[in-house]
Amino acid sequence: MQKLNCAFYSVPADIKSYLQSKLRGHKVTISTKPFSGCEEIDPNVEVLGVFVDCKVDKKIITKLKKLKLIVTMSTGYDHVDCRTAKGKKIAVCNVPTYGENTVAQHALALMLAISRKLFTSVKRVKEGTYDYHGLRGFDLKNKTIGIIGTGHIGIHLIDMLQGFDANIIAYDAFPNKELEKTHNFKYVSKTKLTAESDIISLHVPLFDSTYHMINKTTIKKMKSGVVIINTARGALIDSKALVWGLENKIISSAGLDVLEEENNLINHEQLLTGHVSTQDIYDTLMDNILIDHPNTIITPHNAFNSTEAMQRIIDTTIDNIKSFITGDIQNDITKPKKNK
Ligand code: NAD
Repeated sequence: MQKLNCAFYSVPADIKSYLQSKLRGHKVTISTKPFSGCEEIDPNVEVLGVFVDCKVDKKIITKLKKLKLIVTMSTGYDHVDCRTAKGKKIAVCNVPTYGENTVAQHALALMLAISRKLFTSVKRVKEGTYDYHGLRGFDLKNKTIGIIGTGHIGIHLIDMLQGFDANIIAYDAFPNKELEKTHNFKYVSKTKLTAESDIISLHVPLFDSTYHMINKTTIKKMKSGVVIINTARGALIDSKALVWGLENKIISSAGLDVLEEENNLINHEQLLTGHVSTQDIYDTLMDNILIDHPNTIITPHNAFNSTEAMQRIIDTTIDNIKSFITGDIQNDITKPKKNK
């Protein structure tokens, strides 16, 4: 058997020994933390395993001369420079379908929490005030819910929403009209979705074409009081415009599992100890404003993180490596899709 030198980063501590056991026979090093630069990575590494908080850029790919395979333990792969990898004939495998129900459930949880002011209600009671005044929410029934992206996750969310008697509309750059009949929703243009939705939930990958797809121009066309849910990628939304929309009460609330600068966020301790540059502070300013805003609910890129999804992620990652070894690689995003 081909013996590979594998290095994994950002692996949850409780998964380490399972991963190690499944790759017995290979040289495997596992870190529970992301790497902060290529200096940390063994220059002889052949398989690099990462999560979304590890930026695999051109510098890293160029420095790792023996690299053959990058496995990302995620669906999204915008943190990997796939073009450079492809140019060097390095395969890049993702986990395309581990979490369609898991992430959809998290999006729904954010929606429900916002609709019933759940966090403010719980906080108030914990603080000793048992009083519902000022905590009035809204029903999902009869609301128009706009889903952007009708792929694996978007469609699962549409299915989950069927029980709420809402009017579901969707926009996708590549609409599959068959889905309209089987999943009971209606495709509309992006403009119509933006103008008519009471709640908008994002489920598209981050590409050049989707970067800042929610910006000041689109927000200006939204219904007053709209709720925005984003469990896809932070940079789909221009954070500065989102803050503007919240401040101008066009957006009543936002439920976000992802932030534009989430990998560089600055916490209070770093600010106080002064170990950050003015540029870093500037870069993360909007995310920090969003975190502190009274009308947002932010979770730390946690939508994928269920026990069942984690198992599927690790098992598919191991299968990706094994398929690479046998020469019949699966889930290689540098190649045209064959298993969809
Ligand atoms: P998918 O590939 O199954 O679906 C994406 C959909 O977006 C497709 O239907 C595609 O046609 C559509 N699309 C592509 N470009 C578009 C554009 N320019 N405009 C409109 N629609 C466009 O992906 P998925 O499994 O549903 O996942 C969606 C995204 O969710 C992932 O790319 C990832 O970034 C994110 N995600 C986040 C988490 C988390 O933990 N927060 C976990 C998994 C996935």
